[in-house]
Amino acid sequence: MDRRKFLYAAGIFAAATGMNVNGNILENINRRSNKMAKYELPELPYAYDALEPYIDKMTMEIHYTKHHNGYVTNLNKAVDGTELADKPLVDLFKEISKLPVAVRNNGGGHFNHSLFWQIMKKNGGGTPTGKLGDAITSTFGSFETFKEQFSNAAATRFGSGWAWLVVVDNKLVVSSTPNQDNPLMDVADVKGKPILGLDVWEHAYYLKYQNKRPDYIQNWWNVINWDEVAARFDKL
Ligand code: MN
Repeated sequence: MDRRKFLYAAGIFAAATGMNVNGNILENINRRSNKMAKYELPELPYAYDALEPYIDKMTMEIHYTKHHNGYVTNLNKAVDGTELADKPLVDLFKEISKLPVAVRNNGGGHFNHSLFWQIMKKNGGGTPTGKLGDAITSTFGSFETFKEQFSNAAATRFGSGWAWLVVVDNKLVVSSTPNQDNPLMDVADVKGKPILGLDVWEHAYYLKYQNKRPDYIQNWWNVINWDEVAARFDKL
């Protein structure tokens, strides 16, 4: 069985049992195996207070149980009873410009937050090593330069959106998208596979940081789960 088929099978299994599969997020994230299956809120891989003091408990709880949960609920509503219901989310992203805006906003919201929770952890931070660390150094000159570029993309995204580290034709690129768009969508300026993303919607930081988005961005580097980001890079 080749890898793609295996992941497909894993996705079916996950849908049938309700289990989460730590597979390739680009292939099988909460994939609906049939029209009866629903998108589901994935389990948060840590407690609400795990990312304190950088991301506070209340923000985390509201973000996950209200915002992300809302995207999941509304994504199900948007695809229920339509031919979109049994297509993988990543396939919908490829033609998102032709689909209802509710699928774009809520499908993006579901995907982006599922990635976001995974690429953070308690006692995270530091710098990536191995293949990803080497790629960052050779692409940007140094980790510090990369950090500066990414932070700048996050700080200058006007209004709500995300900053991304994207793999485009085997090269690393920093970008940002508005609203709940992401680099897998046909509407993105930079199209590729996201391996790291930062939510810069006000709901992600306002309770603790108010209008000080740059402080939130600066602190976020302390909770990045580089092993998870590197695993996504290695899988490509
Ligand atoms: Mn959010």
